[in-house]
Amino acid sequence: MENMQSIANILIFMAATVGVISVVIYIIGLFRQPDREEEEKNRREHFGTLREISLRDQRIRELQSEVQRLNELNSRYLVFMLNIPTVVMHLNSTLEFDEIASTIIRLVRDIIATDTVELYIYDKEADLLKRVSPDGKVEDGMTYALGEGLIGRAGQHRMLRIRGRGDEGYSGKKDKEQVEANIYMAAPIHFSNRLLGVIGAGEIKNPSGNEGSLLKMIADIAGVALFNQKFLSGAKKKAEVDPLTGLYNRRYFFHMVQKFVEKSILEDTPISIFLFDIDNFKHYNDTNGHAEGDKLLKELSELVAKFTRKTSVVARYGGEEFIVMLPEISREEAFVYAERVREMIASHPFAHREKQPLGIISISGGVASFPADGRSIHEVIQLADAALYQAKREGRNRIIMHKPFMFSDTSSEG
Ligand code: GH3
Ligand code: MG
Ligand code: MG
Repeated sequence: MENMQSIANILIFMAATVGVISVVIYIIGLFRQPDREEEEKNRREHFGTLREISLRDQRIRELQSEVQRLNELNSRYLVFMLNIPTVVMHLNSTLEFDEIASTIIRLVRDIIATDTVELYIYDKEADLLKRVSPDGKVEDGMTYALGEGLIGRAGQHRMLRIRGRGDEGYSGKKDKEQVEANIYMAAPIHFSNRLLGVIGAGEIKNPSGNEGSLLKMIADIAGVALFNQKFLSGAKKKAEVDPLTGLYNRRYFFHMVQKFVEKSILEDTPISIFLFDIDNFKHYNDTNGHAEGDKLLKELSELVAKFTRKTSVVARYGGEEFIVMLPEISREEAFVYAERVREMIASHPFAHREKQPLGIISISGGVASFPADGRSIHEVIQLADAALYQAKREGRNRIIMHKPFMFSDTSSEG
């Protein structure tokens, strides 16, 4: 019994000891806990730093490629800037619209990385923006009204328009919508308050954000060039063309003659001159009034111009006197042409013709050739004039070739 008691005491003692040890271990464990957390923290920090380093590397690589991109852009801008004086000089030294238009298109292509560059020119009479082909030809097919799509709105508001920034582009006809969908921004070309056109550019590859300003700058350069072209070619036309008939004037005729003579000498080809004068025109004026006389001059000029090849030059030589230069045409061939002109006029139903002395509107003319008939073109013109004078003397409504005995016989002479 006593033995049993002592065994129980031992067990109680052992249990108490285990309890105490457990408590001690627990307490020790409590003290050791922060260490492990720190370890965990350190581990996390370590990985965090690694991630940060790799992110930083990535950012550096991004910055490097950005620097490279900006360098490329910069050198592109530099080339462009250096070229500007030459381009501006070129644009303003030509009066050819085609050349100016194609240069503008090329300029936009050179500076803005896009697949689409479109130039539209404003036709004031039609009140439409008409597309210009890359070689500078105005196409009637593709047009925008002012206010229509990005192109039309850039023209109407004289402001740069960018798709998505307050402007959603064109909606309407499907085919036009498709064409317009290629346009991302549009800049107006204007000068001294006049709209001249619009430049459109497509989606921009790797945009720098400067494209709008660049397009505007090119549009401004284009504005000056197109205005000069319009203004100067208008002045040139005024200096070359007779305002009543639309034919070249005498001054321009002699300017052209000089060029043709040089060519004729070089190539050993003839130039024929046909000089003609309206018969009894004073009578026409006196009978029908000066205004009707003007109308006749205009109508007759248009007929002759239409009838004559584009390689020939028709000019108003004086009041009711006209001259035609026929390059590479012999005297005989020129005579055939002159006769046809005379017949055409004589048979044309001009107003009031029945009141004329011959009952028709008729002309008298003379034909002579360079170099066969005269040593200079001036001499040839004098010979044609003499033949014309002879035609008047012989009864009018006839052409005389500079060969005294050969003339077209239209009257009862025989
Ligand atoms: P001929 O058959 O001999 O050529 O006689 P003509 O009456 O045609 O010739 P003339 O030289 O006597 O008269 C030419 C007239 O042309 C006189 C002039 O008033 C007129 N004239 C000249 N320029 C113009 C013009 O721009 N408009 C009008 N309506 N008449 C003009
Ligand atoms: Mg006359
Ligand atoms: Mg006359």
